[in-house]
Amino acid sequence: MTSFRRALVSGALAFAAASFAVHAHAQGYPNKPITLVVPAAAGGPTDTVARLIAESMGKTLGQSVIVDNTGGAGGTIGMARVARAAPDGYTIAVWHIAQATAPALYPDLKYDVVNDFDSIGRITDVPMTLVSKNALPSKNVTEFFAWLRAEKAKATYGHAGIGSASHLCALMLLKGVGFQVEGVGYRGTGPAMNDLLAGQFDFMCDQTTNTTGHIKDGKIRGYAVTTKSKVSSVPDLPTLDSTVLPGFEVSAWHAMWAPKGLPKEATDKLVAALQAALKDPKVVERFASLGTVPVDPSLAQPAPLKSYLEAEVKRWGEVIKAAGVKGN
Ligand code: ASP
Repeated sequence: MTSFRRALVSGALAFAAASFAVHAHAQGYPNKPITLVVPAAAGGPTDTVARLIAESMGKTLGQSVIVDNTGGAGGTIGMARVARAAPDGYTIAVWHIAQATAPALYPDLKYDVVNDFDSIGRITDVPMTLVSKNALPSKNVTEFFAWLRAEKAKATYGHAGIGSASHLCALMLLKGVGFQVEGVGYRGTGPAMNDLLAGQFDFMCDQTTNTTGHIKDGKIRGYAVTTKSKVSSVPDLPTLDSTVLPGFEVSAWHAMWAPKGLPKEATDKLVAALQAALKDPKVVERFASLGTVPVDPSLAQPAPLKSYLEAEVKRWGEVIKAAGVKGN
């Protein structure tokens, strides 16, 4: 064989080996554990949703999906980390409505909430609840607002950082009564709930995922839900809309994203595993007991999430601007 032919043959072999390696890698996805970033502290509602989904997806994918809590700055620290991660399917995120509120509240945001991520799919719609420490004198939603109006600047509420669902809900609620009170920021409503249980601040607006159990156990007082309809996990609570704040409606939602540029094979496998998780009886049962509503699996895929996020960015941008709410 001439040296020219030898070079050609070895070049062709090298090319074949390289394409086989790429193909084998893609075929083999996932061949190591996947990190699922939760941009809020452990023990909160996003963490609860993410851990249930992660366990179920891990079974479908044949690899562990390990939750990594990276809380702080209303979730923007964790999502910045995901935006910068390699788009190989081994770093993904579960986050919520704050992905849509961040552009309006964080003018210095270092990533584009729509274009720096690949959408995997929507996961839940979650009603929120207005709750307080048991030591407050109010026993129902009307009494709570009377207390709040009398207390004004002396009242305190907890939240999970600027733009988080709990922050947004409290701001909208206070906008409704016409004054603001001091908020205490946490890395998530997991730790905030611990402080509410200990009576460190007065009230909070948080997802049913985090409040249902404590309301039922009588450890905190539930006053109302933030959706237009009542919620079956907390059937005694009226809506804010039908009581003290007509027209009030705020609810949270969760979804799954990956860094921009995910290979199609990884996207397809993650979508299939997410859809299977939403039908997993263990997930379905636990969500139901927490008042956490799974989306129809047809929405747990990239296109419906991308268009929903775009619409939510627009909607919340306008609401936040009209309400005069400021972030950092
Ligand atoms: N539920 C929190 C929030 O208020 C975040 C969390 O801890 O999951 O947005």
